[in-house]
Amino acid sequence: MSKSGFTWDFIVVGGGLEGLSLAYHLAKFKARVLLIEKRSVGDPHAALHASTFRLQYTAPENARFAVEGRKTLKKVAGEIKAKNTVRETGVIWLMDARTAQKFKRWNVALWERLGAGVRITEARPVAGIEVTLNLKAWEYMASTDVGGIVDFTVLSDALARAAKKKGAVIAEGTEVYSVEHDGEKVLGVIVERYGLIKTRNVILAAGAWTRKLMESAGLSVPLAPKRACSLFFESPGLLAERPIWAPPIQGLLVQTGGWLRVITWSGAGESFETKLSYTCLRNGIRVLDKIITGGSWLLLEAARAHVQPVSPDRSPLIGRSKFWPEGLYVLTGFSGHGACFRVHAGLVLARFLVEGEMPREAKPFSPDRFTKGNIISESLSF
Ligand SMILES: Cc1cc2nc3c(=O)[nH]c(=O)nc-3n(C[C@H](O)[C@H](O)[C@H](O)COP(=O)(O)OP(=O)(O)OC[C@H]3O[C@@H](n4cnc5c(N)ncnc54)[C@H](O)[C@@H]3O)c2cc1C
Repeated sequence: MSKSGFTWDFIVVGGGLEGLSLAYHLAKFKARVLLIEKRSVGDPHAALHASTFRLQYTAPENARFAVEGRKTLKKVAGEIKAKNTVRETGVIWLMDARTAQKFKRWNVALWERLGAGVRITEARPVAGIEVTLNLKAWEYMASTDVGGIVDFTVLSDALARAAKKKGAVIAEGTEVYSVEHDGEKVLGVIVERYGLIKTRNVILAAGAWTRKLMESAGLSVPLAPKRACSLFFESPGLLAERPIWAPPIQGLLVQTGGWLRVITWSGAGESFETKLSYTCLRNGIRVLDKIITGGSWLLLEAARAHVQPVSPDRSPLIGRSKFWPEGLYVLTGFSGHGACFRVHAGLVLARFLVEGEMPREAKPFSPDRFTKGNIISESLSF
């Protein structure tokens, strides 16, 4: 029995990376924590998609959080003996002259100061070296070494194991139907097969589904789910093992774990369905056509879609709103760029929940920022 008189000090809903990180860190702080995941942790459905990380954001709040996030990601991966799940292979952006000008400005104003600078070079002279990349189609390229790829499936499994070792309980294959409260305080969650599980603190880390859970409690959260998809190709084994991002054509190319992956977005949408859309497929083909020379020899092996939790300013939601019942928190809104944010977000929220002080870099991400007009103005996210 915990100090509060209930079995659980905290119930975390959702076993994505931030939910797992939160459960792990809360358990490290000796809190009694139950994590409930409706599928399984490290479910490839979610985890397979989220692989690339970078520190280059245009909003100082995001850039600073990503820099801290990278440190935490590497530290925690070491701590839980999953070091090789984080590979810093660098990131490349291919761009036109206008975008290169913007990158130069952001670099001087922000990234270099944070130790996350990029090198900007003309793309064409490199075309002879990188023969599989169609660099002739681009004017400039920016590259950085502080970024790379995370194996989320393995990292999630390792985090779950480490959280359990510290005393957290993880219930997989169990869906939370709603959050119960009396208008003032949280009472617990209603769970499939069990009914009410009582606690004074519920943290919703349920990705895009967080909004549905809030609605089930008669509450709202600023979150607009957005569909994205990955196309998996047989790896040609020739491309550089680095994420390659081409902002003007809404696509990302990643070579990892024997796959060449093209990630695309179908634009904002309210749908929770995870079906592929024609827009995604069309964007995928466009990305390949523009980035790879002679792409016709690539064999499409699989295509998968998932829903991203996106907030109105495409930046995370960490903490609670003063309009919600006491004891209700969210950890979501990681959009298409959560890789560097999510483990750190779990750590900072755990600190806040146990010690009562939100770390400085997490304060801007309050869910109340929209009502106060403190929007985080990010122009390099998707
Ligand atoms: C195609 C694609 C490519 C992407 N590429 C990248 C990338 O390269 N880099 C990057 O950083 N990010 C990327 N992302 C984004 C990344 O996947 C998301 O930011 C991330 O998955 C969001 O994490 P989450 O834990 O909030 O949500 P999820 O990963 O969706 O996790 C939420 C969990 O909560 C569970 N859940 C939901 N409802 C309930 C309930 N009622 N009861 C119990 N459990 C519940 C779900 O089963 C799920 O496991 C990509 C996303 C997509 C779709």
